[in-house]
Amino acid sequence: MHTCRNCNQSFQTELALELHRDTCKKGQLFCQVCGERFREGDATQDGWHYECPNDECEAEGLQEDLYRIEDVRTTTH
Ligand SMILES: [Zn+2]
Ligand SMILES: [Zn+2]
Repeated sequence: MHTCRNCNQSFQTELALELHRDTCKKGQLFCQVCGERFREGDATQDGWHYECPNDECEAEGLQEDLYRIEDVRTTTH
């Protein structure tokens, strides 16, 4: 069983999970350093300073290392 870490929805296959992650409304932020996706609330405590919730990743800063997925979509298309 593969479970989306953002919304806890479960999927039969890894592919189904991958497809879901592209559209998951709860995975709003994207780290361009490690490629991880996560909820906005996981990346910031105060809504001002953002950093990647991945322990092994040093990325920080909204619009620097971290981007909103919706922003990435609108700028790349
Ligand atoms: Zn999800
Ligand atoms: Zn990261």
